[in-house]
Order: sequence, then C-alpha cells, then structure tokens
Amino acid sequence: MAALSLRNVIKRYGHGPKANQVIHGVSAEIEAGEFVVIVGPSGCGKSTLLRMVAGLEEISAGEIAIKGRVVNDLEPSERDIAMVFQNYALYPHMSVFDNMAYGLKIAKVPVPEIKTRVDKAAKILELGHLLERKPRELSGGQRQRVAMGRAIVRQPQVFLFDEPLSNLDAKLRAQTRIEIQKLHRELGITSLFVTHDQVEAMTLAQRIIVMNGGMMDQFGTPEEVYSRP
Ligand code: ADP
Ligand code: ADP
Repeated sequence: MAALSLRNVIKRYGHGPKANQVIHGVSAEIEAGEFVVIVGPSGCGKSTLLRMVAGLEEISAGEIAIKGRVVNDLEPSERDIAMVFQNYALYPHMSVFDNMAYGLKIAKVPVPEIKTRVDKAAKILELGHLLERKPRELSGGQRQRVAMGRAIVRQPQVFLFDEPLSNLDAKLRAQTRIEIQKLHRELGITSLFVTHDQVEAMTLAQRIIVMNGGMMDQFGTPEEVYSRP
C-alpha cells in the first residue's frame, strides 16, 4: 500500500465566479520510505499541494490518503504527518529538549518514552550536547536541526518539508542537506520535500514531481526528469 496517495486533487481559492483554481487534478502514489521532491517555478502550486497534505489547506475535490486512510476531513493533529518549515518556529523560552518533547507531551506519550525518542533523535542530529540550551543560544543550522528533531520524535508516516533550507547560507544549506540524507538513510522516512533548488532535488530525491501551472508535468527519477530535452 502506498504511504501517501493523491487522487485527482484539485484546489480552488475563493468561491463562485471569482474562484481561482490553482491545482488542476494531481495524482501520485508515494511508496513507504521514498523521498520525493516537488520542484517547479514560483506560484506553480508546490506549497499549496504540501499544505493540503498537511491539512493546513482544505482540498476542493479529490482525495488524499495516508497509508490507505483518507484524510481529507482530518485536522493536522489527526494526520500521521510532521512538517518542517523554513521558519522553524521554536519556543524561545523552552530548552532544546522541551522543544523537541513538546508535541509528545501534548499527545500524552509516557515520559520515559519521550526521553528515549528525544535522545535518539538528538544523537542522529548531533544535538546531544545542546539539549539544555535555549534556541537563542544556538546557530541557525542547530535551530533547523531542532526543528527536524521535533518532527522525527513524532515518528510520523510522512514527513513534509516546505523549503526547509532556503533561509540558510550556502554552507549550512549543504550541511543540512547531508543531515537530511543521513536521516533518510537511517530512518527510511517517507518524505515530500518542496524546493526550487535543483541541487537539492538532484541529491535528495528518489523521485521528482515537476509542477507547472498547477499541474504535474513529470513524475520520475532525477535521471528521467533532468535528461529530458
Ligand atoms: P508555490 O509554492 O509553487 O510558489 P503556491 O502554492 O504558494 O505556489 O501558490 C500557487 C498559486 O495559488 C499562486 O497563484 C498563489 O498566488 C495562489 N495562492 C496561494 N495561496 C493562496 C491563498 N491563500 N489565497 C489565494 N490564492 C493563493
Ligand atoms: P511561498 O513562496 O513560500 O510559497 P508565498 O510568499 O507565496 O509563500 O505565500 C505566503 C503565504 O501567503 C502563504 O500562506 C500563502 O498561502 C499566502 N498567499 C500566497 N499567495 C496568495 C494570494 N494570491 N492571496 C492570498 N494569500 C496568498
């Protein structure tokens, strides 16, 4: 069973004669453990597509299913997903540990289990020595890793990345990209990753969705997508 299915997904903003359709029937099946990158020019609908999977935006028609379960009408908290944004909004008054643990506490995960999961994520992300720090005492790259840690500890079926690297300088961007590759290798996470950076797409993607004007132009391996004339 596909980890994530999009079936003829349509999005219109607004209603009636003034409605503006921005996603025109996108269908795709993403397998468990697969890393899929969505690319395309600004305004082609990448964010909208991701936000619909996340439940931050209602879908106008069609179906989105996570592990076979239709999630159209489910709140973000009821979907088995976690999202990493470019503006990693960490809680400034909380330690790194508490930032990473927060979602699990809300979900009433037992404390020993929280500790195990946070410690494991911190180890993978090399944050183990920073768990007591506050976000303001971290570098940009470290903050971005905390934001990823917060997503990992929830062990979701699907990870959604909305241009998570675009606010980082070139060096950090490259480092964090390697970090994400490592995560994917070690945890086999199913990911949908939006970017307009071709290097990120080439290095991270197993398959690439090319969006254009609200439609899926191509869906294939990096070789298939970038060798096309
Ligand atoms: P991308 O992420 O590829 O840059 P978006 O998904 O942000 O594209 O936007 C796709 C289209 O939908 C654009 O034409 C944009 O102006 C429009 N759009 C996005 N969000 C809204 C909104 N909340 N209300 C109306 N139109 C929107
Ligand atoms: P991005 O470039 O990351 O896709 P944008 O700057 O296009 O983000 O959009 C930022 C926010 O503004 C989003 O929440 C998006 O939904 C909203 N937005 C984008 N286009 C429009 C629009 N035409 N009308 C209303 N809201 C919009």
